[in-house]
Parts: sequence; structure tokens; C-alpha cells
Amino acid sequence: MWIRTILLLALISVVLAAKDFYKELGVDRQADDPTIKKAYKKLARKYHPDKNKEPDAIQKFADVSHAYEVLMDAEKRKIYDRYGEEGLKQQQNNGGGFHDPRDVFSQFFGGRGGQEERRGPSKLTEIEVDLGDFYRGRDLEFEMDKNVLCDHCRGTGAASDGDVVRCGGCNGQGVKVQRAQVFPGMYTNMQVTCPDCQGKGTVIRKPCPHCHSAKIIPSRITLSLHLPRGAPEGFEVVFDGDSDESPDWDAGDVIVRVRSRVAEGEGGWGRKEGGLVWRETLGAEEALLGFNRTILHMDGHEVDLSRKGVTQPGYVQVLEGEGMPTYGDSPTGNLYVHYSVVFPNVVPPSLRSDLESAFRKTRGGKKRDEL
Ligand SMILES: [Zn+2]
Ligand SMILES: [Zn+2]
Repeated sequence: MWIRTILLLALISVVLAAKDFYKELGVDRQADDPTIKKAYKKLARKYHPDKNKEPDAIQKFADVSHAYEVLMDAEKRKIYDRYGEEGLKQQQNNGGGFHDPRDVFSQFFGGRGGQEERRGPSKLTEIEVDLGDFYRGRDLEFEMDKNVLCDHCRGTGAASDGDVVRCGGCNGQGVKVQRAQVFPGMYTNMQVTCPDCQGKGTVIRKPCPHCHSAKIIPSRITLSLHLPRGAPEGFEVVFDGDSDESPDWDAGDVIVRVRSRVAEGEGGWGRKEGGLVWRETLGAEEALLGFNRTILHMDGHEVDLSRKGVTQPGYVQVLEGEGMPTYGDSPTGNLYVHYSVVFPNVVPPSLRSDLESAFRKTRGGKKRDEL
């Protein structure tokens, strides 16, 4: 009995030191097959030695392929869940071997992995958010159109797998030999793509009732992204493999580019590279005599704009560190306050005479036209 206990303890310690296949694929322990498949697909493409030249890519590729092979095999997964990798090794010694990671890959993508699988087009989409969202940072969710493979026929277009049959027109060859006239009375044999099956060699006997042989179904997906504080204009996020699906290719990426717009209530704000611009309008008295003003920044904190003395129209006041927050290597930006001045439409008579005498005093009592 004690021998068994020791063995079990030894086994547990090995299990603890071993790799976690679920973590390897970034899925949780309850993940179903499609989830595991999707996770593998993404990682295998990322680490495939033909594409990824990082020194540890080969190992990562082997690890994810191995993890995928175990978790997609119901029996192996059960053993792994109970006894860990060590349990699998025991089973392997009894005849259940593992494969070359490239074989796992080619089972999935077709071909022997050496060939790049065909990828569908990527989609670029731009979304606009308030300038304040760039300042504050924001989690965004948005919807997008996406064609997905029909889940009834899984992209075959047929009612069932048995309804994809060999094309009678070309006998499954995809091509036909036709006699064509080159000159009057002179004929040649020409090979042409079979018009019945468009060269595929198979035809659909009974169309899929779900997609009517379109093979894909239009749908809408929700994507979410995080816009970090201070992100640059045109900030991009790539959603790997989230573009339109098709039986003819491996879905391309969705690239989302985020731009800012000036929102209602943000009328005075603008962006200038790492900095921000604020437009402030002064009255004549403030422009001449100075002023005390504060503005609310986009996160609600107050910024003091007060000045003593004259402010010329078009003057730009620089407030260091009040621009966009730090992002990556870029330092905190400055806030550039652009001033304009509005004069009253009418100067009331009493003010006019006061101003005239005040100005005359500064001229040493001389009238304006005496200068
Ligand atoms: Zn045909
Ligand atoms: Zn279908």
C-alpha cells in the first residue's frame, strides 16, 4: 500500500511540473471541441516554423500541436484530465503514439504545412470615437458583418455529405475534351474546364436547405477592443482570422482603425500630435486687462488659464503636460490654448467718452488727429 502512495506522490509531482495543455492553448478546462479547434488554429498559424522565425517558435508550435492532439482526442483528454501528461506517457508506451506536429497541422489545414494555406481577404474598418475617449482610454464594443460557414453543411453546400457526388459531365475529372474547329475542315482536341462542376469534379445532388448552397450565411459579430489612454490617432487592432469565412480559404483578419471625432460638448478641443488644442475666446476687457479663467479638462480636472496683462488675438498659451497622456515612448503632451478676442458690437456713449479721455491721457492730452 505504501509503495502505491509513494508512486502516486511521485506521479503528482511530475504532473505539477508538466505543461498545462489547456494553458498552452489558452482555453479553460471546460472548453468544447470548436473552442479548442479555434484556439489551436490561431496559435498554429502564429508559430508555424515556415512563417515564424523566432528561435522558440518551433518549440511553441510543437507544444500547441501536441496539446491540440491530446485535447481533441476524447480518450486522451480523459486520461490527461485524470493523470496528467505522465498518464499519457504510460498510455503511449502501451502503443498510443504521438505524431509529428506538422502532421497535426496538415490534418487541419490540408497540405503538408510546407505550403502556405490560402487566406481570405482581410477587412479594414474605421471607427470613430470621441476625442475624450482617446484622452481617458475606453473599452469599445462594436458590431460587424461577417459571412460564416453554414453550420448545417459546414461549407459543402449539400444537404448531407452523401449529396456531394461525382460530376457526371466530366466523370469527376473537372475537365472535358472538346473537339474544336481551328480552320475550316480542321479540328483539334481541346481540354476545357467542365461547365457542369466548374472544374471541381463534384456536384451537389441535393442543396443544403439552410444556406441553399451558398455555403456561407451572413451574420453579425461583436468585437471588443481596448483603446489605451493617449493612443495615437489611427490606432490599430488586428483581429486574427475574424474576417469572412469561406470553404475556399482560411478567414483573413479584421483590422480596426480608431479615429477621433469632436463630440458635442467638446467643441473647443482639438488634437495636435501628442498635444491638445483648446480654443478660448476673450472679451475686450479681459484681453486688455487680464483675466481669471479655468476650463474643465476631458477627465473633469480643472485647468487654470489665468493671465495678467494684454492677450493678443491669436496668442497661443502653452500648458506643459496638459496634452495627451503618455502612450508608449511618447511623453505627455502639451495643451495649446489658442486665444481669440471679440469686441462689443456697440460701445455705449458713456464708455466711449471714458475711453477717449483715458486714451487722451496716455497721449499726454493730445487729440487723436493731432498725432
Ligand atoms: Zn464536371
Ligand atoms: Zn448549408
